[in-house]
Amino acid sequence: MQTSAVRSISSGTQVHFAEAPCDELVPPIDGLYRSILDSIRDGVYFVDLDGTILYWNRAAEAISGYKPEEVVGRVRGECVLRHCTSEGSMLCGAGCPIERSILDGAPHEAEVWIHHKRGHRVPVCIRATPVRDDGGCVVGCVEVFSDNSRKIVSLEQAKELNRLAFIDELTEVGNRRSVEIRLRELFSDPHGMGMPVGVLFIDVDHFKDFNDRHGHDTGDQVLRAVAATLGANLRAFDFVGRWGGEEFVVVTSATSLRDLQQLGERLRALVQRTNVEIDSQSLSVTVSIGGAITIVGDDPASLVARADGHLYESKGSGRNRSTVR
Ligand code: GH3
Ligand code: MG
Ligand code: MG
Repeated sequence: MQTSAVRSISSGTQVHFAEAPCDELVPPIDGLYRSILDSIRDGVYFVDLDGTILYWNRAAEAISGYKPEEVVGRVRGECVLRHCTSEGSMLCGAGCPIERSILDGAPHEAEVWIHHKRGHRVPVCIRATPVRDDGGCVVGCVEVFSDNSRKIVSLEQAKELNRLAFIDELTEVGNRRSVEIRLRELFSDPHGMGMPVGVLFIDVDHFKDFNDRHGHDTGDQVLRAVAATLGANLRAFDFVGRWGGEEFVVVTSATSLRDLQQLGERLRALVQRTNVEIDSQSLSVTVSIGGAITIVGDDPASLVARADGHLYESKGSGRNRSTVR
């Protein structure tokens, strides 16, 4: 028998249902169905329209720590699992996927944190699905939840490993390995169709003086400032990495010698306008640059070596210069 489309649910609030829910009794879950539900790894529980938990499987106990006898018969509004978001906002009430499913008759999914009986928070992926009787009336909701801990830990680990493998921790541009990989990719790219590859080898001038006069931390700050200026002034498909010490390498594809010369000059001039503020002092910094573009027979190592040779010409002719040819 259907009731009106307005009724109160577990949280006690009067709500409007998308469709009128049923007041009919929910059939018991037993026998074969109970064995099946108890054999799966996902937590499963069922609540009726009043929010009373009628069924709680073994995995729900394993993930949450609560035994069936501690929760079955309890009104979910008492919030056994106390779902919250990663920011700690509680989802009980309007944000609760179960209440939303009962209200709109649609399934809802979310990644949330549940309260474990021992007090800690467990990350879970939950799927709430309304359950209907033979006549199509919503008689309750089933929530399936799976333990996300391993997934979240491994995702974080993978991200961290990836970061450590390719990013220079101090300057947060690519590290030497990522420059080498980028160069190898460009040299072996069949879609590059022989387009020239350009390299700029960039070395901070008299960098040792920053360390000697102002300390190693200031030296680090100079490196971060130079890296940020270089990184912010490249085209989207250009790449900058820290080669080591106070040396950076820019890799650019589909370039011409003229474009590479202009890029080198622009980066040199922008670094010259980069200031590092230390103890009410403004330190200016310059770089010397050497650049080269691919010629027949080049490989990544020979291209970088030519750019490095040109860098030493820039150093020799007074620093704060770019030599690209
Ligand atoms: P030049 O103009 O000829 O390039 O002189 P320079 O002083 O820049 O070059 P030099 O090779 O003499 O000194 C580089 C210094 O960079 C030496 C080293 O201690 C310092 N250095 C290397 N890595 C780091 C780092 O990560 N942080 C800091 N603060 N210093 C570093
Ligand atoms: Mg150097
Ligand atoms: Mg130097």
